Amino acid sequence: MQKNQIMISYGDQSKKMVKELLKEIKVETGLRQNDLIALKPNLINPTKSSQGATTDPEIVAGCIEYFRERGFNNLMIIEGSWVGADTERAFEVCGYKELSQKYDIPLYNLKKDNFIKKSYQQLEIEIAEKALEADYLINFPVLKGHCQTRITCALKNLKGCISDSEKRKFHRHGLHRPIAYLNKLLKQDLIIVDGIYGDLDFEEGGNPVKMNRIIAAQDPVLVDAYAANLMGYSIRDIEYIEIADQIGVGSKDLSSSEIIELNQDRETDITYSSGKIKKLTAKVKAKKACSACYGNLIHALKRIEETGQLDKIAGFIKIGQGYQGEKLFGIGIGSCCSGADGFVKGCPPSARDTLDFLAENYNIRV
Ligand code: SF4
Repeated sequence: MQKNQIMISYGDQSKKMVKELLKEIKVETGLRQNDLIALKPNLINPTKSSQGATTDPEIVAGCIEYFRERGFNNLMIIEGSWVGADTERAFEVCGYKELSQKYDIPLYNLKKDNFIKKSYQQLEIEIAEKALEADYLINFPVLKGHCQTRITCALKNLKGCISDSEKRKFHRHGLHRPIAYLNKLLKQDLIIVDGIYGDLDFEEGGNPVKMNRIIAAQDPVLVDAYAANLMGYSIRDIEYIEIADQIGVGSKDLSSSEIIELNQDRETDITYSSGKIKKLTAKVKAKKACSACYGNLIHALKRIEETGQLDKIAGFIKIGQGYQGEKLFGIGIGSCCSGADGFVKGCPPSARDTLDFLAENYNIRV
């Protein structure tokens, strides 16, 4: 895999999808058989991945099986939950204790680890020894919103590799600069983003949006730039992406990237129980809409809601395969709605493209 590539698999069969991605990437190339491979999920709190906060254990299981099948046995799972959450409890509730027993892989609570002081541009950061020891670090962030930094994905997920006191310090320093600097001091070799479910706006979950995809990349800055776009943000909205780009952690330049989609997904399970999501989609008429497409639309509508202009949407927005070939009055989302008076191109179109299109058509300032 090249540094400018982003590979995507759509669907919700996470174990199978991750194995296909790793095979395509040929992740084992260049690795020695006894290299220590660290698997770093996001287990911010003890909640199931379907709540939108934590990494689906099936994704990590797929990765373990992939390496095992190729004779790589020196694997470990590492994580430290957020301040106030018990990592051991998160290991149990999120399914990682079971994973560790099933595959006989050590599970390290990084809150209990030794910490090594490292510094970059006069900022000293205590980093868990286990994370630094790894020969190859695979980061498994969740694609989700964050109340302070707007999104959280690859760059921010390394926060689970620092001490609790350091996490508090990061907040005192406004998060953005320390997150970027941490990534200068601790290198991630591969990123597998869990985009099956991710929370709409909070890192602790509760309003999960089914996005039905797993995204793989080697550049954390590039994949975060892509994630920002998927959630309807401009890269300049996420300061830590800009800083990480400037200090050479990676490149935010999506125009030079190569997006490789391994498949298409037509899964249409879009039942949402969250009141927040129901409110956002009150003006949407879906007919067999793919989860991936509908998820992007929800993020675009959320960005509009934040500007207080959701009520400018007049009539109904159409989305879904059920509209294919129909002449539609008003606005549609994606190539299925090409018969509408106006529609966003793409299959699925990104949240950013959807947002720009809706803004233009409904005279919304974003
Ligand atoms: S445009 Fe149609 S087929 Fe494509 S993702 Fe959207 S709903 Fe599915």
